[in-house]
Amino acid sequence: MIHQKGIPMKSVDESKLREIFGDNNVKTDPSDLYAFGSDSSVHHAMPWAVVRPDTTEQVQKLMAYANDALIPVIPRGGGSGMCGQTVPIYGGIILDMKRMNRILEINLPDVYCRVEPGVVDDDLNLALKPHGMFYPPTPASSRIATIGGEIANNASGVRSVKYGATRDAVLGMKVVMPNGDLVTLGAHTRVEASGYQLHKLMVGSEGTLGIVVEATLNFVPIPEYRCMGIANFDDLSHAGGAIGAIMSSGATPSMLELVDSVAIKAVNKTMNLGLKEVAASLIFEADGMVKEAVDYEINKMKEICTKHHGSDIKTSYDPKERAKIFMGRKKLFPALSKYDDNLSSTSLADDMAVPYSKMAEMAGKIHEVAKKNNIIMTAYGHCGSGCMHTKILMDTNREDQWASAKKAITEIYEYVRSVNGTTSAEHGIGLSKAESFKVEKADSLKLLQTIKQALDPNNILNPGKLMQAPEDWVTATGLRYAVHN
Ligand SMILES: Cc1cc2nc3c(=O)[nH]c(=O)nc-3n(C[C@H](O)[C@H](O)[C@H](O)COP(=O)(O)OP(=O)(O)OC[C@H]3O[C@@H](n4cnc5c(N)ncnc54)[C@H](O)[C@@H]3O)c2cc1C
Repeated sequence: MIHQKGIPMKSVDESKLREIFGDNNVKTDPSDLYAFGSDSSVHHAMPWAVVRPDTTEQVQKLMAYANDALIPVIPRGGGSGMCGQTVPIYGGIILDMKRMNRILEINLPDVYCRVEPGVVDDDLNLALKPHGMFYPPTPASSRIATIGGEIANNASGVRSVKYGATRDAVLGMKVVMPNGDLVTLGAHTRVEASGYQLHKLMVGSEGTLGIVVEATLNFVPIPEYRCMGIANFDDLSHAGGAIGAIMSSGATPSMLELVDSVAIKAVNKTMNLGLKEVAASLIFEADGMVKEAVDYEINKMKEICTKHHGSDIKTSYDPKERAKIFMGRKKLFPALSKYDDNLSSTSLADDMAVPYSKMAEMAGKIHEVAKKNNIIMTAYGHCGSGCMHTKILMDTNREDQWASAKKAITEIYEYVRSVNGTTSAEHGIGLSKAESFKVEKADSLKLLQTIKQALDPNNILNPGKLMQAPEDWVTATGLRYAVHN
């Protein structure tokens, strides 16, 4: 284990934890510790203990103890984060928030709900559905991702192009600070101009500033009509042109997704979908309460795709047809994992954002870099939000493949920054992306560290992440894989 500067490594007083949480909710078995040592990233490190609170008071007591004893505490939701945000690189206590999973209030007249942080996204949507409402930031991991984790990562998803990311949906929250104090941030109103918007600061803070113990979120009516379309393109740059044209046309897509040729080949190979193997496909959707308005939006997008040399264009309101159109995109993530038995699908530089005019160029850059470094990379993503995903398919046991991956992502991030893009659009920074994040935010790093120091002077809350992450994530942090040369 790495000894963090400023924090003496101490063993945890297990009896104190059992006193706060009860025997059943304190885990110190090596197998439990191992399981909680990684998330959906490439990283791994062993925690010293795992605790599972049921109440805010327990969280407060833990923080007061940990702050006093200078023990790192790492909040954790579903553990689906892809950049090592919950990996305890300096040891410490994993605070597993999943038992705090009550939906406290669904307030229809005021259009908000109050939830505990361990509520799983899909469960919130199941509860809202009978009221004709939905919570839109929903990431693709909604079956496991918790509201606390989504807030801490500022998660977003396919519909964020129209409805916004988590930050846009959060009205307020209750937060336990590193010293155990409980604070209420934000309001229950749609707008607020009462001083610093500290609840917004908590969004995207990756568990480094406070523990969210309650969130007030807005929701929106489920639209009466949804129409989805697909267009194929023989040239990536034509698809890129269509993206910018749609986004500046006045149409409001409720989804605008790009999949490239590598992605299409991957789903065809592993899922037998029989999709036409073109340079790129765009999947677009419009939704709303008035059919004529949805027709207008979808026709506008169709027109633009046609103008930009899109072919095989089809659209449908029918839920089964829509599911078919979306299948290639939906199955992409598992398809990449199954692409080749000897290759793992890794999340390294996996969710950059670039301006619309650079989407096609970015996809081309990904292909060029992959070829140069002899690895397989795809380009796909929520292009309506400017988000471009990639996965690196590689033999994670081979040191030379890690070296190639490292070279590839360095080149990709250099490109992203050169076109005024950003290191992460939705998955956050954690450990894997810290190197590029620090370059991108070079002139505000001191400010970020000052905020961290003010809120968490003992640096006990998820230390070693974001601007504090070690210089080289491959060698300085443990990996989930046994790497040989
Ligand atoms: C298959 C797959 C698909 C995905 N698709 C998407 C996607 O479409 N969009 C997207 O944005 N992300 C996606 N992700 C990434 C990830 O699922 C999201 O970022 C999600 O929001 C993480 O939620 P979680 O509950 O698993 O959080 P965790 O991974 O457990 O934690 C994430 C961060 O939140 C902090 N945290 C957790 N709970 C609290 C709390 N109560 N208070 C303070 N901090 C807390 C943790 O310390 C950590 O920094 C995907 C992941 C997978 C595996």
